[in-house]
Amino acid sequence: MSNREIPYKIYLEENEMPTQWYNVRADMKKKPAPLLNPGTLQPMTPEELGHVFCDELVKQELDDTTPYMDIPQEIQDFYKMYRPSPLVRAYCLEKKLGTPAKIYYKFEGNNTSGSHKLNSAIAQAYYAKQQGLKGVTTETGAGQWGTALSMACSYFDLDCKVYMVKVSYEQKPFRREVMRTYGASVTPSPSETTNVGKKILEAHPGTTGSLGCAISEAVEAATGMEGYRYVLGSVLSQVLLHQTVIGLETKKALEKYDITPDIIIGCAGGGSNLGGLLSPFMGEVLRGEKNYRFIAVEPASCPSLTRGKYAYDFCDTGMVCPLAKMYTLGSGFIPSANHAGGLRYHGMSSILSELYDQGLMEARSVEQTSVFEAAEQFARVEGILPAPESSHAIRVAIDEALKCKETGEAKTIVFGLTGTGYFDMTAYEKYNNGEMSDYIPTDADLQKGFDGIPQMPN
Ligand SMILES: *Cc1c(COP(=O)(O)O)cnc(C)c1O
Repeated sequence: MSNREIPYKIYLEENEMPTQWYNVRADMKKKPAPLLNPGTLQPMTPEELGHVFCDELVKQELDDTTPYMDIPQEIQDFYKMYRPSPLVRAYCLEKKLGTPAKIYYKFEGNNTSGSHKLNSAIAQAYYAKQQGLKGVTTETGAGQWGTALSMACSYFDLDCKVYMVKVSYEQKPFRREVMRTYGASVTPSPSETTNVGKKILEAHPGTTGSLGCAISEAVEAATGMEGYRYVLGSVLSQVLLHQTVIGLETKKALEKYDITPDIIIGCAGGGSNLGGLLSPFMGEVLRGEKNYRFIAVEPASCPSLTRGKYAYDFCDTGMVCPLAKMYTLGSGFIPSANHAGGLRYHGMSSILSELYDQGLMEARSVEQTSVFEAAEQFARVEGILPAPESSHAIRVAIDEALKCKETGEAKTIVFGLTGTGYFDMTAYEKYNNGEMSDYIPTDADLQKGFDGIPQMPN
């Protein structure tokens, strides 16, 4: 099929949208390691997890054998408001780069939260409502997750309490107001409203906060209130499961035009968008049907896959969450305040960590000035102003396309464009003023984080 017959945007019909999520763990021979109780070091039981998370989500979290799980009709209906998301052929970018590569991106920024996070937020709010809960608590870093969750909670009339990493709370007042517009309450973290927040403030006065610390506060708040549970926007296997709508739609759209990708690229913070995008393709690899290259892209300033340790670690600074085996920089790791582009979490989804450890996925770290350079280049030819997080994937997609230009290979590259960057203009401003620099942690910096990784008995 000639290039021109492939449209700029491949949409699916409503009746082609996924009705089930795909659980890639079912096809993994070696499964991701289970979550452990930090006290007993035994795998977390459903009862233990049920104190923190909604019952149905606990089931999803612990199920590593069921390949397909039905998407409840109400969630499917909500998805239809803003999905299917377009799979765009980046003809304009290809032309500008002069590359023979064929570049596609799956654009998840077409909703008010401005990112893919709504895909899981609506599922988590739905299950909380089903369970008859009053509300949920959560953390948010850059603010996309908090926004998505407040949208989802307002749809189901659930209370939503968001602990927002302090540096973002101050730098992104408009994000905060979007959340409040959807009825959420927003508290800068660390705060005096929780014991763990008070402790962190005592130990690190003036800290700008971290996701790990906001998580601890949100968990404490949820477990201390009747009728509340905690929900998380990334990292967990349930979140990755919900995000597989991205990959399932992408796969179906590509199949409509007989397109087989060579390389699939995504940015990786906690790993949910990339995990969701690559899952159905990885399933084919795991079943021995196909072969693809997968590349996870992370910031050089928070390099959990490329420089982290694969170990059991705390998911949060306050050490109230279960232990997860993952590539980690240590729960005490706080990325430099100079780091502008999101993707600040110290660990990585256990599923992606295990796939990476098995050599089924590659990882690359990129510096933020080169990320913003790619973002600007992309915005100027493709129109969309990308989120800094998403721009990590753009950076590597462009790099791979430029390699094709050298070799003359017409590879097919698919990347996840997770969202828009309208609330990140402070970072763009820094870049435009030439004031952005690249901070790469030294081995000694990283060692401080590693020192906080718990020692496990063999
Ligand atoms: C949250 C976010 C990410 C990173 O989270 P993952 O769980 O790694 O997907 C990437 N892009 C955008 C726009 C986000 O909001």
